[in-house]
Amino acid sequence: MSYVLCDKVRELEPYEPITGSYKIRLDANESFYSMPQEIRDEIKEIVQKLDFNRYPDPCAAELIKAFSDFYGISPDNVTATNGSDEMLYLLASAMLKKNSTVVVAEPDFSMYNFYSFLSENKVISYRKNDMFGIDTDELIKTVNENNADMVIFSNPCNPTGQGITAQQAKKLVESVNALVVLDEAYMDFWNESILSEAAQYDNLIVLKTASKAVGSAALRLGFAVSNKTITTALRAVKSPYNVNTLSQKAGTCIFRHKDMLIERTNTIRENTNQLYNELVELKTNYKLPFDILEPCANFVFIRTELAKSIFEYLLKNSIAVRYFGSAGALRITTGSGDENKELMSVLERYIIEQYLSENR
Ligand SMILES: *Cc1c(COP(=O)(O)O)cnc(C)c1O
Repeated sequence: MSYVLCDKVRELEPYEPITGSYKIRLDANESFYSMPQEIRDEIKEIVQKLDFNRYPDPCAAELIKAFSDFYGISPDNVTATNGSDEMLYLLASAMLKKNSTVVVAEPDFSMYNFYSFLSENKVISYRKNDMFGIDTDELIKTVNENNADMVIFSNPCNPTGQGITAQQAKKLVESVNALVVLDEAYMDFWNESILSEAAQYDNLIVLKTASKAVGSAALRLGFAVSNKTITTALRAVKSPYNVNTLSQKAGTCIFRHKDMLIERTNTIRENTNQLYNELVELKTNYKLPFDILEPCANFVFIRTELAKSIFEYLLKNSIAVRYFGSAGALRITTGSGDENKELMSVLERYIIEQYLSENR
């Protein structure tokens, strides 16, 4: 007997985040906050009473209610998934027929491309401009000229931290005969959301996650917000018990701590802006070859010919950031005040020890 993997999967390698243990993790856009003790205690109680022998609620009703209350929307328009990742896969596979046309923007979150590839969609890339902005009219043209079935992008964008306004996003939704999937994973850090209007459109799905501002990447909680017709379809295609009971209950508890979440989100925003300002100052002081993009999310994107050497130097000093080889860029998630201070001091040391000595 023999079995040969199909071409599509033969060359694939498992997703590999940065492995090893580093003192400071600024590589995955997670929140630098750990969960407060008060909430940990509440979750301990939840675990004590958990019905381990029973399947989870397939509708995740309590969780969806807590999520919806937090964002001020109706629970009827929300589908919960095992991270946004599960929904991205469903959108590319179950929600589209094979050989459908999907427009992605580049550069953007690589998972959009990956799930479309697995689902055997035809992918059309819309190239962003030199400063990584989206020209909404150009994107509309790309979608319409290709008769695309779906267009998907993140706003603000991971990895660039750049975004389009709510008005531009709505213009796009109103100008295409395609399903628009707007991934607002980082919108908590900016102010151009169209989440509360998502249900008014025929062709819009807004994605949210608990992995970033909500500081709960470990729980794997994603949310799709759309009109009732689309919502019914999404609930029908997802696997019934996709969100486990512990994550449902812990997530419910966390979303109910609205003041704490908002306060933390504000601090993350402030830290990001401060990090950006300090990086710009460093660039000016040492005349560095850096293109630093003004951030709309919780990370700073720097295009520089020094990307690889800075990335390696930081790793040696136990600081992990994200390196994009093909773009020649670094993406640095904001850390706590102390973490950012350490990052800046190691960066400055790199410049003095390596960059200046080689470029004298
Ligand atoms: C981190 C991130 C998500 C969240 O994915 P989860 O599966 O919910 O953790 C979604 N979209 C983008 C663009 C992200 O960067």
